[in-house]
Amino acid sequence: MALIVQKFGGASLATPEKMLFVADRIIREKKKGNQMVVVVSAPGDTTDNLIEFAEKLAKIPDERELDMLMATGEQQSIALMSMALIEKGFKAKSFTGAQLGIMTDTKHTRARILDIKGAGKIKKALKEGFICMVAGFQGITDKEEVTTLGRGGSDLTAVALATAIKADVCEFLKDVDGVFTANPGVVFDAKKIDFLSYDEMLELSSGGAQVLYNRCVEFAKNYNVVLHVRGTFTDKQGTIIKKEDKEMEKIIVSGITYNKKEAKITIKGVPDQPGIASLVFNKIADGDVNVDMIIQNVSDNGSTDISFTIFRKDAVKAVKVLDDIVKKVKAKGYSIDEKIGKVSAVGVGMRTHTGIASVMFKALADKKINIEMISTSEIKISVVVKEDQVEDAVKVLHSAFKLGKKDVKAE
Ligand code: ASP
Ligand code: MG
Repeated sequence: MALIVQKFGGASLATPEKMLFVADRIIREKKKGNQMVVVVSAPGDTTDNLIEFAEKLAKIPDERELDMLMATGEQQSIALMSMALIEKGFKAKSFTGAQLGIMTDTKHTRARILDIKGAGKIKKALKEGFICMVAGFQGITDKEEVTTLGRGGSDLTAVALATAIKADVCEFLKDVDGVFTANPGVVFDAKKIDFLSYDEMLELSSGGAQVLYNRCVEFAKNYNVVLHVRGTFTDKQGTIIKKEDKEMEKIIVSGITYNKKEAKITIKGVPDQPGIASLVFNKIADGDVNVDMIIQNVSDNGSTDISFTIFRKDAVKAVKVLDDIVKKVKAKGYSIDEKIGKVSAVGVGMRTHTGIASVMFKALADKKINIEMISTSEIKISVVVKEDQVEDAVKVLHSAFKLGKKDVKAE
């Protein structure tokens, strides 16, 4: 018997039929003798619809009231799901964030969880045989103000709750069967990954794979909560994300991920002097722009070029501060390229194996894909390439690292 936290997203709860399906999915685990705590998002597009409604009444809706409004979405799901479970003959009970004492700071619409005071309440209900339905995404401040955790925040509720009640596993039920070696929409032969370390999952998501919210994986890593990303429509094991172990190191590259949401900026003819990079990136940060990769060329006659990538959606904000930067550092000018993409290979095995970068660069060269920038971490190599070559790059790397179903060798 295990204590399981399951999390279902809004898309799985969009209609009564879907809710009944989810109810059966929960019951299957309950019947195995497990104790079930289930965190849910608001049904379907409820949150979007509520925000849209609010924006018809106020240009910038008051954040306290927006939280009061948005929190109702998840409350619908827990009540409806509990009714469905009770109708099917099971004991079920719903809990809001406030009822469970999910304590947060006071930052409306993007609050952080500080503590869960009501873990005992859940434990008691579980002991009495209840399936506990918990509203994701919401909390309460010490002044009893309702808060929400930021869009997609139900994932975070699930992990925080799993930590507080010391669950054996925190499962995320998805319409895909797990995390794949690459986007199956791009790489036909992509296969489900069985195990990942927290750091690999973090690198895969910052590289572009949209599976779990990064804050949620970080939380799980800090508290050592085992995560399981699995399919709603299957009982098969999905991808288990847990603390790194020796087995994981044997796999050099776990997955290839990509992101077409970045833009590259080059500041040309920057004087090569101490303090210049600091000035440039301080100004960029002041402009509220997040920087990803940075490279600086070797200097030639006392001046150099600095290139960096940012989120493409921040390009307008960046351009606002770039003229000022160019003037202040006495650079020659800047250029911006929005047609780039980032492709990354991720794997903990990189720490102990050599030659990974050379395999990667050769594979790209053979395919005549030009690398514009490179950045590495202990367990990741990323390259920036032209946007229209991203998918080819993903395919070629996926096969260079033999990640496909066809590549699995018979033992
Ligand atoms: N319902 C919220 C949202 O749509 C929270 C979540 O789905 O996790 O962002
Ligand atoms: Mg949602």
